Amino acid sequence: MSLANWDIKKDIAQGDWALFLDRDGVINRRIVADYVKRWEDFEFLPGVLESFPVFAKYFKHIFIITNQQGVGKGMMTAMDLEKIHRQMKQEIENTPCKINGIYFCPSLAAENSPRRKPNPGMALEAKSDFPNVDLAKSIMVGDSPSDIEFGINAGMQTIFIGDRKLLFPTNARFSSLSEFAKSLK
Ligand SMILES: [Mg+2]
Repeated sequence: MSLANWDIKKDIAQGDWALFLDRDGVINRRIVADYVKRWEDFEFLPGVLESFPVFAKYFKHIFIITNQQGVGKGMMTAMDLEKIHRQMKQEIENTPCKINGIYFCPSLAAENSPRRKPNPGMALEAKSDFPNVDLAKSIMVGDSPSDIEFGINAGMQTIFIGDRKLLFPTNARFSSLSEFAKSLK
């Protein structure tokens, strides 16, 4: 597949593709040098909630994959994080769009957990929970180089959000999740 000329729409029209989304900086505003520790800190980025019904139309499975080492650092509990995710999922599903799974890794970066992006553990978990998911027919969307590396490690296609320099090849780039959704319409 040529990286520059990937016809995303043509591929996903097959109807059996999966979408993997990073959370902070893709779905909600990233808090620099801190963490979203309560629902009050969580702010959907512009156009994101309008994007989910578009994704629901094209993707058979949709997952959210997020590193949350704020838990490992003791800045919030796994229960705080799960509360935030319950609320986020509810708001997304109201749009409407089903979310098949939210996977998070609470480990510290220094622990090099096989579950922490860029390691592919959380993709393999989603695949194990949903055996029909074909990772070669999956797209990882993220705003960090580690998201793209994660996608490559898991054998997925990748979309990079933002204009930062990237040392890994990515299949496509968009300025925001909403711009990606618009490109599918
Ligand atoms: Mg991110």
